[in-house]
Amino acid sequence: MTQTKIVLSERDIPTHWYNINADLPAAGVDLPPVLHPGTGQPVGPADLAPLFPMALIMQEVSTERYIEIPDEVRDIYTLWRPTPLYRAHRWEQALDTPARIYYKYEGVSPAGSHKPNTAVPQAYYNKQEGVTRITTETGAGQWGSALSFACQMFGIECKVYMVRISYDQKPYRKLLMQTWGASVVPSPSNETNAGRQILAKDPDSSGSLGIAISEAVEEAVSRDDTRYSLGSVLNHVLLHQTVIGQEVIKQLELIDADWPDVVVACTGGGSNFGGFAFPFVRENIVNGKQTRVVAVEPAAAPSLTRGVYAYDFGDTAQMTPLVKMHTLGHDFVPAPIHAGGLRYHGMAAQVSALKEAGLIEAKNVQQRAIFDAAMSFTRAEGILPAPEAAHAILGALDEALACKESGETKTIVFNLSGHGHFDLASYDAYLQGNLVDYEYPTELVQQSLANLPKVG
Ligand SMILES: *Cc1c(COP(=O)(O)O)cnc(C)c1O
Repeated sequence: MTQTKIVLSERDIPTHWYNINADLPAAGVDLPPVLHPGTGQPVGPADLAPLFPMALIMQEVSTERYIEIPDEVRDIYTLWRPTPLYRAHRWEQALDTPARIYYKYEGVSPAGSHKPNTAVPQAYYNKQEGVTRITTETGAGQWGSALSFACQMFGIECKVYMVRISYDQKPYRKLLMQTWGASVVPSPSNETNAGRQILAKDPDSSGSLGIAISEAVEEAVSRDDTRYSLGSVLNHVLLHQTVIGQEVIKQLELIDADWPDVVVACTGGGSNFGGFAFPFVRENIVNGKQTRVVAVEPAAAPSLTRGVYAYDFGDTAQMTPLVKMHTLGHDFVPAPIHAGGLRYHGMAAQVSALKEAGLIEAKNVQQRAIFDAAMSFTRAEGILPAPEAAHAILGALDEALACKESGETKTIVFNLSGHGHFDLASYDAYLQGNLVDYEYPTELVQQSLANLPKVG
């Protein structure tokens, strides 16, 4: 019998995070500076201090290749790490492909996704610097629950601005956050200027991540005891997620697997993709490996494939620093019929720069195909994927079917970023035949892009 589940011991949890900034120069990739929204000048640590603890600011700008993971953080990681790597024997058979498919499963964390990998160190560094409250935003509720859990571990108060449409449609994630002690308010809310301005224009606003970020940031900068926390996009977030890819490499080595021909992950803000794929990108840059690295995003929010590579705000109210990234425009509001998550308007600067340099590939996919792929996977492997993770499943499926066509025995590894136990309403829509494909209209992309800040 060939092995199905490749498990490491707690001793194998990585001791360091991998910082790809150290290897970008060798690849000729330039990461443009983050700019101050008022002055247009590069931001310094002092500019970011009202938002983040200094340890995280230093990680954000670090070029050190490996950054040590504090013992307290590794200790909490042992609650679910190392996560298993599976060989998808049954799915390979169902697809009748000669490819070898592996998936890393991050759904075993308390919150059910990869997000606690960064929520825990973020709460830890805040605690170290005496912060007693953290604000954040959440869309579908995955990030909000991860941070609520992490704050609970360190006795920090957690306030979550939850995108209105999810607050109404996904009550169970809200309850999970409350169970871990967080307070959750629907966004836009009346608690901030940013929220009140949006409500004045549109009392029925369904909200967006960009709006919720504005609210959380506004509250953090207006209170001394409070900092803000972001669940994706930023360098330090992707850094923390690199425990995923480092473990995958150890797991593949443990069973003498062939080096992957292709690795696949979904991209919202880029954190599970970066954490899973950057250790492989490093092998490509430094050790001459030739793994194809594929990012998969929704056709309804296609920042990496249809956005422009330009400086933009991270939020709708234009309060955050300007980041050069692939963006659909900071006033992007996703269509309510889109069920698959991954709704953020921008992409992590590191992921954007790698895409621009041709070191990674990206494609966008339609939601019915995503759920078809999720069904094919769960009926063979049993795990019910988060709709976000199903984008990666579809990416892997396409690669496996190409192998079937060509007869090649490629090694495909993808990141299964979370389970879908809280996403059954989306599965219901799919099973009832109510899910329609939706491509973000070109006119709307152009409208949003016309409002990009003018820089330099
Ligand atoms: C939040 C989330 C994502 C998307 O966020 P990234 O920062 O792009 O990783 C993907 N999968 C799951 C399960 C998530 O919860």
